[in-house]
Amino acid sequence: MNTRDYIEIEDKYGAHNYHPLDVVIERGEGVWVYDVDGKKYLDCLSAYSAINQGHVHPAILAAMLEQAKKVTLTSRAFRNDQLPLFYKELSEMTGFEMSLPMNSGAEAVETALKLARKWAYEVKGIPRHQAEIIVGSGNFHGRTVSIISFSTEPAYRDDFGPFTPGFKVVPYGDADAVEKAITPNTAAVMLEPIQGEAGVVVPPDGYLRRVAEACKKNNVLFIADEIQTGLGRTGKLFACDYEGIHPDIMVIGKALSGGFYPVSAVLASSDLLGLFNPGEHGSTFGGSPLAAAVARAALKVIRDEKLTENAAKMGEYFMEQLEEIPSPHVQKIRGKGLLIGVVLKPEAGGARRFCEALQQKGILAKETHERVIRFAPPLIIDKDTIDWALPTIREVLMMP
Ligand SMILES: *Cc1c(COP(=O)(O)O)cnc(C)c1O
Repeated sequence: MNTRDYIEIEDKYGAHNYHPLDVVIERGEGVWVYDVDGKKYLDCLSAYSAINQGHVHPAILAAMLEQAKKVTLTSRAFRNDQLPLFYKELSEMTGFEMSLPMNSGAEAVETALKLARKWAYEVKGIPRHQAEIIVGSGNFHGRTVSIISFSTEPAYRDDFGPFTPGFKVVPYGDADAVEKAITPNTAAVMLEPIQGEAGVVVPPDGYLRRVAEACKKNNVLFIADEIQTGLGRTGKLFACDYEGIHPDIMVIGKALSGGFYPVSAVLASSDLLGLFNPGEHGSTFGGSPLAAAVARAALKVIRDEKLTENAAKMGEYFMEQLEEIPSPHVQKIRGKGLLIGVVLKPEAGGARRFCEALQQKGILAKETHERVIRFAPPLIIDKDTIDWALPTIREVLMMP
């Protein structure tokens, strides 16, 4: 079977809810992936930042195999010997007292929203079922019915109502708009520190700090969705660290497992996460021994290999070098660390054709929102590999 055969089968039997590049990957190692025809590519998407540690990291693989031979799932009806250590190591690494494990990012976001509402009724004293949560325009927090209820992206939302009430959308990047939208019924403000899916949208300096201050002043929780920006991607452990912000609730996922298994978590103080009582929230697979063992190894790789520091260094170099390409198509380049968006001019004919050209030449990057090419390679990337990629990126960005 070759690439065409696989694509034909996939398109016939699978729902078309994605528009993937026509590359069929068979194997991955570090920053590289190999397709079924034996062609090698540099992965510049990292599965939307789930592969920060690189493909099939040997230490995470070993932890997964070892745990899979022992016990994979106990359910939370019983305890297991991995989850406590995961909690402890996650707390020590992030500075949050407690965490609650889930699987996908969207589930962790839902958990954070439920926690904020519970806090609103039990602690803040908002009348029951009146709590409001403020979010930013252009947000991406996942795909559940409640989460798409406050999306501003027609494709995510239009055919999927009726929507969950209780959310207010304000323009992203405008701290005054957040402050003005706060009412006595506001439970929380939830934001991405950098909007990845919106096209690597970096808010003005001071934005997060001002929002966090407005939250504090008005007794409102600040929730940071760091599912994509967290765990080293932007050159700090969390993108919030750039502004010295410690959110009340932080949501992480993606790289928390290094791409081996869906693991997400909600991080908060014990005052907040302590509000959940048995039976009020849960997940069959959340906090499984396999998930906990994999996540412990994934976190250890981020620490041991200093991936955050490498993302800062390599990101700065990569962005500098991209800036030097005199492409007629590029409007601007933005991002932090190794989360980089190349924004094309409206007349450039869309980002897709550039991504397809890169694919032909051995680099996998994905367009986001028609006009942005995202470069987000695994955080283990080194300067030689970036130097290998730059002439190709240059050639593609210079094409007519
Ligand atoms: C990917 C992502 C999510 C959703 O995560 P899933 O695991 O796909 O459910 C939520 N928020 C942000 C910022 C993300 O990038």
